[in-house]
Amino acid sequence: MPDPRETPAMQQYYRFKRQHPLCVLMFRIGDFYEMFDEDAVTVSKAIGLTLTRRTEGMPMCGVPFHQLESYLRRLMAAGFRVAVCEQLADASQVKGLIPRGVTRVVTPGTAVDETLLQGDATSTLAAVIFTASGDDSPASLAIVEVSTGDFVVVDCTPVQLVDELARRGARELLFADPGIGEVPVRVKRLLDALGIAGTPRPTWQFRLEEASQALREHFGVKTFAGFGIGDEEPVLQAAGAIVRYLKETQTLSEDDAKLAANFVAGGAGRATLKHLRPPRREDASRTCIIDAVSLRSLEIERTIRGKGTADGSLLGIFMNSGSCRTAMGKRLLRDYLCHPLREITDIEARQDCVGALMDERVVAGHAAACLEHVQDVARIAGRVAMARCTPRDLVGLARSIEAAAKLVEILDQSAAFSQLRSLLAPACEQTAAFAQAVLDGCVAEPPPHLRDGGLFKDGYDAELDEMRLLQKDAGTWLSEYQVRLIAKYPLPSLKVGYNSVFGYYIELPTAQARSAPPELVRKQTLKNAERFTTPELRDYEVKVMNAQQRGLDRERVLFNALCDQGAALLAAIAVIGDECGRVDVFSAFAEKAIRRGWKRPQIVEEPVLRIDGGRHPVLDETLGSEFVPNDVQLGVMKAEEGSADANPAKLALITGPNMAGKSTYIRQAALIALLAHTGSFVPADRAVIGKIDRIFTRIGADDALHAGQSTFMVEMIETANILNHATTSSLVVLDEVGRGTSTLDGLSLAWAIVEHLAGETQPEYAPDEMADGAAPPPTPPKSGPRTLFATHYHELTDLEERFAGRVKNLHVSVREWPAGDGHAEIVFLHRILPGKTDQSYGLHVARLAGIPAGVVSRGREVLATLAVHHMGGATSDSKAGTADGGTNANGKLNTRNISTPKAVEKGRGGGGGGVAQLALFKEYVQHPAVDAIREMKIDLLSPMQAFDELRKLKDLVDA
Ligand code: ADP
Repeated sequence: MPDPRETPAMQQYYRFKRQHPLCVLMFRIGDFYEMFDEDAVTVSKAIGLTLTRRTEGMPMCGVPFHQLESYLRRLMAAGFRVAVCEQLADASQVKGLIPRGVTRVVTPGTAVDETLLQGDATSTLAAVIFTASGDDSPASLAIVEVSTGDFVVVDCTPVQLVDELARRGARELLFADPGIGEVPVRVKRLLDALGIAGTPRPTWQFRLEEASQALREHFGVKTFAGFGIGDEEPVLQAAGAIVRYLKETQTLSEDDAKLAANFVAGGAGRATLKHLRPPRREDASRTCIIDAVSLRSLEIERTIRGKGTADGSLLGIFMNSGSCRTAMGKRLLRDYLCHPLREITDIEARQDCVGALMDERVVAGHAAACLEHVQDVARIAGRVAMARCTPRDLVGLARSIEAAAKLVEILDQSAAFSQLRSLLAPACEQTAAFAQAVLDGCVAEPPPHLRDGGLFKDGYDAELDEMRLLQKDAGTWLSEYQVRLIAKYPLPSLKVGYNSVFGYYIELPTAQARSAPPELVRKQTLKNAERFTTPELRDYEVKVMNAQQRGLDRERVLFNALCDQGAALLAAIAVIGDECGRVDVFSAFAEKAIRRGWKRPQIVEEPVLRIDGGRHPVLDETLGSEFVPNDVQLGVMKAEEGSADANPAKLALITGPNMAGKSTYIRQAALIALLAHTGSFVPADRAVIGKIDRIFTRIGADDALHAGQSTFMVEMIETANILNHATTSSLVVLDEVGRGTSTLDGLSLAWAIVEHLAGETQPEYAPDEMADGAAPPPTPPKSGPRTLFATHYHELTDLEERFAGRVKNLHVSVREWPAGDGHAEIVFLHRILPGKTDQSYGLHVARLAGIPAGVVSRGREVLATLAVHHMGGATSDSKAGTADGGTNANGKLNTRNISTPKAVEKGRGGGGGGVAQLALFKEYVQHPAVDAIREMKIDLLSPMQAFDELRKLKDLVDA
């Protein structure tokens, strides 16, 4: 028996498989897409298909051709990449091997079909190129949203790479394959951090010359100056590599395309990448940076513990209430939240549009009604270009264009929208005739796909009408033909009929059959009758039999013609998508502001953060009137400078028990500041916000982004990033920094971090705290970022005094009253007030959480003992002995013993710093070696004895 792998079709299969080694190859054979060998085994297991065998030893499984999309969806969800290999010609017209070609490759970053994408989620394909070797090499990124054609290029530092890819919703990353069979370490780090797919590509495709060539060919340009990109810039390497990849995976070769043009379902041979917009360079200086850590920890797109949906996130509050009406609006809103603006004029232009829709409710209502009819124009444009457009897409596009034109009229009176209108109006005019042609030609309820026809109205096309008439009116035609024949020949019993086996026939009883004219050709003899046919009847038969297929073919030709018209208007369609999306976001902002009483924030140049009656945008919706609003006041406006009431401090330390609302408060401040920079109004009675260049956060452990690192390491990496990059214009939000290590380490670090953030130079320490001879540090020349620092280290509150006017204390108020058992009951008021607190109420919280009463009361005993021991070394200003019968559960440390960093530096080897360290050492270290040192009489030891003692000490420590 011949080897089944040696047949011509299988040889063809293996050729494509070799070209797409990372993909499952779905190979069209007749009405099925078949998979073989390894592919068949893994796919059948993963998505539950029945595994069969083509012949012995050759596993195979398949799916019916008309269910391709649903299987693709399942395969994508299971993490597969798929190459779809089509027959490029009609099998009945071809002798021998049918030509085939891979018409599309579906990967996480290249999905364009509606069924494979979430409407409101941005899904992009990225390519990275490092411009030098080494970990600190700068990198260039190109990012394409294949479904809409949006194309962005960015130069990044290595640190920004993850942030940029996360913010842009990258799902797949192309990188130059070094050919060593391994993913390069720095690429692997990115892929792991983001949890996305990596696709190795030949290195030459990233070379400047080849990459530029691909771009020049695609966009038909000689130089990239028109795109604002220099001809030698490394971003071109990434951009060119992406274009080449898309060409290779999403379009056919010229020859195959000709062959398949009108044959392959969906017209895949016609796929182009015409919808790709020229690469645009984002001007990073115009946006406020939210890094990947902040994106996650502020729960902007999704919650940390959520199921990957927007529920419970900042984005979610705009989705759940249904306030964004279009898919473009939803994606743009996400983009606005991930890329807030930095320039006051840009922000105010958006605020004006939101404000206009709030003031003119009738206009807003009409605009919203229009937007209801606007479909995902941006992605339909992509599908038009890539020949994956469905009849519903086409009609939806035409209706959307109509709706957009109405929107232009509605917004006509509004000055805030004049710029938007100046873009939208010409785009609508340009596309109006196309939309009209579609709506004139197509039925109101188009079929989901063209397979069964039924898209065009009767009367639209004479040829199509004839086909349809043939199918519908065959009965009428046959009886008319019968009447004609009887009139022509003296054969009164002549009948014209049809049966499924023999087709159309003329039947005569045997007696009359003898006088049949020669024009009637005998076809079949029955018991009492003869059946005939005529050339006319045969022609008619062929016509009717083919009418259905020809009707479908005709519909495809008409459909393709309309799609071609649309394809010539892609730029205008993209503008319609963009601008409708913008109006949609503004109306979502306006609706939110009206419904929830949000106010227009004032954005100013001074680095202040002033929020009156601020609410957490998400909790405010879930808790309603139970949510307690709070104020924020960091920094002073120029006009207030020198005023006795105004505290210029830009760093607030928030202390208070766990569960009191510290995290909520600091997150709320960050979210309000962020919303203000998107152009949205904010959940507050009043807000004045100095423009922000970056929002930094360090909140909770973010294990997903730093797989394999300890929680403390993650905490320190994130904090290091903040300390190294925060500027005077940044907003820093820190929650419980230092918790991941021992109390002493943690407190010391937290202390030093606050010092650093409060200003670049040292605090003004009292002279008695300075090391001998140390000069007082100079006054700070520069203020630090606006910072909210929530901590359970109450010792830090002493920094307010040391950094007067730069650090201030806030605490969360708690109401306390005696309970029946002699202890205190507490209730968290969630109100943030000036001043410090030095109680942690840890035992209360434990009790509230359901820790057994016995454990809690034993905890109190232990706490009391610890407090007594501890207070021995504490200073008189420590407030021990609270209503709880103890002190703060972390122990109040003698902060006076902590020297200034300068003093330590100067006093190394003696002086104040050394004493301070010894004090901590005495208090905390209990060890036989320490006891031995204490008892040692060093004046009486000879050098040899001293050496022996030293060895003994070492043994004690090692023991
Ligand atoms: P902490 O950071 O102090 O441990 P959280 O900020 O996590 O406390 O708040 C604990 C809980 O208290 C939150 O889940 C929320 O339900 C509630 N809470 C916080 N702030 C407020 C507020 N301003 N108004 C009402 N409830 C609040």
